Amino acid sequence: VPRSSDVELPVIPSGYSRPRFNQAIESLRSLIGPENIELNDKPLDDGWYLEHPNTHDAFHLVEQEEMVSAATVYPASTEEVVHIVRWANEFEIPIYAISMGRNLGYGGAAARVRGSVIVDLGKRMTKILDINPDMCTCLLEPGVSFYALYEEIQRRGYEHLWIDVPDLGGGSVLGNTVDRGVGYTPYGNHFECHSGMEVVLPTGEVIRTGMGALPGNNTWQVFPYGFGPYADGIFTQSNFGIVTKIGMTLMPNPGGSEGFMCTFKEEEDLAQIIEVVRPLRIKNILENVAQLKHVVQEVALLGKPRTHWYQGKGQVPLKRLREIASTLPCGDCSWVYYGNVYGPKKNRDEKLKIIRDSFETVPGARWIPRDSLPKDHYMFSREKIASGVPEFDELRWLNWHKNGSHVFFSPVSAPRGEDAMKLFNIAKKWHDECDLDSFPACCIGLREMYIIVNMVYDRGDPVSKANAYRCMRGMIKDAAAAGFGEYRTHLLLSDQVAGTYSWNNNALMRFHESIKDTLDPNGILAPGRNGIWPKKYRNKGWEL
Ligand code: FAD
Repeated sequence: VPRSSDVELPVIPSGYSRPRFNQAIESLRSLIGPENIELNDKPLDDGWYLEHPNTHDAFHLVEQEEMVSAATVYPASTEEVVHIVRWANEFEIPIYAISMGRNLGYGGAAARVRGSVIVDLGKRMTKILDINPDMCTCLLEPGVSFYALYEEIQRRGYEHLWIDVPDLGGGSVLGNTVDRGVGYTPYGNHFECHSGMEVVLPTGEVIRTGMGALPGNNTWQVFPYGFGPYADGIFTQSNFGIVTKIGMTLMPNPGGSEGFMCTFKEEEDLAQIIEVVRPLRIKNILENVAQLKHVVQEVALLGKPRTHWYQGKGQVPLKRLREIASTLPCGDCSWVYYGNVYGPKKNRDEKLKIIRDSFETVPGARWIPRDSLPKDHYMFSREKIASGVPEFDELRWLNWHKNGSHVFFSPVSAPRGEDAMKLFNIAKKWHDECDLDSFPACCIGLREMYIIVNMVYDRGDPVSKANAYRCMRGMIKDAAAAGFGEYRTHLLLSDQVAGTYSWNNNALMRFHESIKDTLDPNGILAPGRNGIWPKKYRNKGWEL
């Protein structure tokens, strides 16, 4: 998109003088090398998943220009990150670290403050520093993607080691973990499966957490806690430091794995399905975070635009979706459960029998034998993901709209039927009101459930974008009123979500702010990330 002639490029932070900015960039060039700094003064290109921009949010929810950076810098080492942080303090420039910037649906590679300098760690900090085949651990830099880690493990012939992947494998293992992302093997809770971090604090001090603080240790990746307060949590979903290394635990191959699929007839069955899943999940008979997907996703996964199936306004009626579904392997249904079982065949068969018997207590449930599915069926993609093999199939549903973009509504509930129905109805009400299709999927963790509602909109249409934004705000408000909060959100909705965690006169946010002001007195690192504003910005009109 050519950029408006009204905008002087690159866009610099509000209140900053251009000569001072130019001086700052000159200084950064001398520190990191001119070839490692790019000004954001060219046309903006939304690209696509594999060629995503690091200049703005590729799935913009507001005007594309609203969330642009001034420049991007590419450090090659922790030492260079330290130089950049010290430089940002000297010139009081906001910086924003990304690992790979594929945080699509949550803000992509954009910073919350327009005109920030993006510290893109993904281009030159790409080393797999260690893979320990005996301990089943690894140590990674921010630029290691799920694909890269998977391929390196295959290359080294470590067939006994699995990684854990989210729906799409192109993201950074470290970036996903510090945003507390999830994947689909039994090691799907990425933060829980990390051990040790190296962090550059906003003043330029470097720390190692857990056993990493003990010189000469060989336990950094095996015991996450070390001695004293457990610091790692404050470097996730925050703006308290730039993580330059992370240790991860790797799952040993359990001796085989196999996917399964079960459909459920009515939309209202949701409550009963969740009641059936909960005990199986807590007992670990269902061992991974599986997905219970609404039938609309089964249709959208065919990769055709919505207009191919339905021309009317509002949500595609359930009746029409079920009609389409009846021509597919899933048949006429409202929900599809994609699960996986692990271990040698004998163990898998035993678990499958228990699961099937439980699922079939829901009237109308239909167990679809794996062998009856065509080889290119989506179940096999989920089976791979649930066995730690990176995939891209999930991108297909973005074709639902022209300029298909999406934003996630990600509330957490207990895996209780009643709660699932409440959240489902809140999402449905707001999607109806805002003329959007809702793509809900229930991801059931051990004792928590994320109802991830993927809202697909047309980013080329200002009305569709405004509706998506309004819908998100409405759902967040209503969910909070019913006692539910989001586990993660888009950058632009962080203030609203953070504001819902308000117990005792916002005591938690005041605690975060004290940490922020202590660690980052100049407020240079990712101001506004997750609703945490440094003193310099606080209550000055930045909050949304
Ligand atoms: P980045 O964008 O690099 O990082 C995410 C954020 O973390 C950054 O914005 C930054 O604020 C912070 N950060 C990154 N690196 C650092 C650092 N070194 N120090 C401090 N802070 C840092 N996500 C899931 O978790 N599970 C899913 O199953 C999933 N499914 C998806 C399906 C689709 C179709 C799409 C489009 C997205 C999905 N996502 C999912 C969201 C997202 O794509 C992934 O979470 C992805 O891994 C995030 O991008 P990234 O790894 O490149 O992280």
